[in-house]
Order: sequence, then structure tokens, then C-alpha cells
Amino acid sequence: MKITDHIKKAKGETLFSFEIVPPVKGKSIQELYRNIDPLMEFKPPFIDVTTSREEYIYKEKDGLLDKKLTRTRPGTLGICASLKHKYDVDTVPHVLCGGFTKEETEYLLVDCQYLEIENVMALRGDARKEEKYFTPTKGGHQFASELVKQIHDINQGKYLHDTIESNECGDFCIGVAGYPEKHMEAPSLQSDLKRLKEKVELGADYVVTQMFFDNKKFFEFVEAARALGINVPIIPGIKPIAVKRHLQLLPQVFRVDIPQELIEAVEACTSNQEVRQVGVEWAIQQSKELKAAGVPVLHYYSMGKSDNIKDIAKEVF
Ligand SMILES: Cc1cc2nc3c(=O)[nH]c(=O)nc-3n(C[C@H](O)[C@H](O)[C@H](O)COP(=O)(O)OP(=O)(O)OC[C@H]3O[C@@H](n4cnc5c(N)ncnc54)[C@H](O)[C@@H]3O)c2cc1C
Repeated sequence: MKITDHIKKAKGETLFSFEIVPPVKGKSIQELYRNIDPLMEFKPPFIDVTTSREEYIYKEKDGLLDKKLTRTRPGTLGICASLKHKYDVDTVPHVLCGGFTKEETEYLLVDCQYLEIENVMALRGDARKEEKYFTPTKGGHQFASELVKQIHDINQGKYLHDTIESNECGDFCIGVAGYPEKHMEAPSLQSDLKRLKEKVELGADYVVTQMFFDNKKFFEFVEAARALGINVPIIPGIKPIAVKRHLQLLPQVFRVDIPQELIEAVEACTSNQEVRQVGVEWAIQQSKELKAAGVPVLHYYSMGKSDNIKDIAKEVF
């Protein structure tokens, strides 16, 4: 079922969902199941599975460093299929511009159709670690909006080559990313919102936001989006702080602000166990307020660990 239909069916009730990251290549999927199992009692209608682009790894060989381009966490679509089968839940693979040609994207979307995966998140992806700016893959897309258009074209029965026109239209529900504190490369929040509007005009059906720690930023973002004519569901993304290092890491990687009150509460902790508790309590307060405001879904970034998400869900759902 499509995410937008899940939202309609819920008739104003806030749904619970979360995002998982595939295991490192060579690790078993069982660990993932162990983390997902405890969350299934909260009946998520869908689970997102991230995609990580290829990156350079260095291995020492005969005293020299050997540089290899590899995807360290492959298997997004396989995991989507396996979770759908095991838990009877909708799964949402993240589809990236970075690291994929348009052809490869088309193959992936065809596989999604065969697997009856109806929802996809269309994302640009970040620059590779060694690059300062995102450079599109040769034969791939530069912006998520182009990827949205490719998926929307398949929904119209238009594949990449004119020779392969089909009456069999795709029927994908397309999610895209939104940034309450603006995307790091955008010159302003307003210009980023205009880019978001382009994605919606090209066929995006819903938006999931980057994490934020101050609900005011989310409410203002939704208000500004609505004022601009973005009328699709906007789903807040929530990440509980779990370790002290997150105070530096999250702003650095995701360009998000952390409220002073939360910083002080984390800094006062003497162990990561205490930090985890502070993070859970903050996320519970955030979630309760967002739920009271009628958000369609609360989407949690689990980053592979579920115990803190379970503690939050117990209080909120
Ligand atoms: C919910 C969510 C899930 C995510 N999942 C993943 C994942 O699984 N894997 C992963 O690698 N990353 C993931 N990301 C991170 C995401 O890939 C990065 O934030 C990336 O840098 C931007 O992706 P985007 O889809 O927002 O890009 P875009 O929408 O293409 O925007 C990127 C930047 O370009 C600007 N822009 C857009 N169009 C134009 C244009 N025509 N001309 C000039 N500027 C333009 C925008 O304002 C923005 O600053 C996720 C992010 C979110 C919020």
C-alpha cells in the first residue's frame, strides 16, 4: 500500500515508522531482525531502508595502499523484500542519484515493481567522503528532482528509451527529503523550499524531514511550505541523541542546531547511559507535541539500534 494511502486510512491518527541502515557487507541480517522485532508491536505501516553510495576504502598491499571503490552497505532492495515478506509490512527503499546511472536506477525500479514495492524515497545522496561537493555519476542525475521525474515518467509508462514504451504504467508513491533548517548547500531556507516545491510539482507525493531537535523549526517549515503551495504530507524525522559525541557529530554531519537546554542536559551527564536517557526523554517530548499537532507519521532514525526507539514508542503510541 502507498504511504499516502496509509496516511488517509489512519484518518488523522499519527502513525509510527522508522528507518534502518543495511548491515556492513558480510554481516548477517539476523542482527537487523533482532533490532526490528521489538518495534513491530507498535505496528509501523512502513519501514525505510537507506542506501549508501560507494566509497573508497584503502587496504595495505605489499607496503602500498590499495584504493578500491566499494559499497560497504549493499542490499537495500534485498532487505526491503525480506522485511516485507517476514513482517508483512510495506518497505521503502531509498533510491539515490549518487553512484547510479539512470539505467541502473531504471533496473532497480523494475525490480521494485516485480517485488510489489510501491513506495520509494528519491534522494540525491551526499558528496563522497573525499569530495567537497556532490558530483553526479556519469550517466546519472544531478538533483533529486530529476530522479523524481524519472520515477514519475515510469508512472506514465515512459521508460528511458523511446523504443520501450509500455502501456504498463508504474504506480510508485514517491517520497522526498525536506530540511526544516535548510539543506547545507542551499543559499537560504526559502530557496531550498522552492527546490522542494519543484520536486513536488514533478511528482513527489510526500516529504520526510531531516532530523531536528526544536519543534518550532518544524512547525515554521511546514507553515512556509504550505504558504508556497506545497500541499503533500510532511512527515517529521526524529533522532534521539544517544551518546555525548552526538553534540558535535550531528550538527557537523546534518547541519542541525541543538537547543541549549538539550546541550546542557547532555553535558551534565556522567555516562552514555545517562545521555541515552536524556535523548529518549527529549524525543518523547518532541514526539508528544508533534502528535498533538496532528502530524501524519512520526518517523524515527534508528541507525541500527532499537532499544531507545522502543522506549520512546512505548510513551507516545
Ligand atoms: C529523510 C531523509 C532520508 C535520507 N536518506 C539517505 C540515504 O538513504 N542515503 C544517502 O546517501 N543520503 C540520504 N539522505 C541525505 C541526502 O541524500 C542528502 O541530504 C543530500 O545532500 C541531499 O539530498 P536531496 O535529495 O535533498 O537533494 P536535492 O533535493 O537534489 O537538493 C540538494 C541541494 O541542491 C539544491 N537544489 C535542488 N535542485 C536544484 C537546482 N535545480 N539547481 C540548483 N540547486 C538545486 C537544494 O536546495 C539542496 O541544497 C537522506 C536525507 C533525508 C532528509
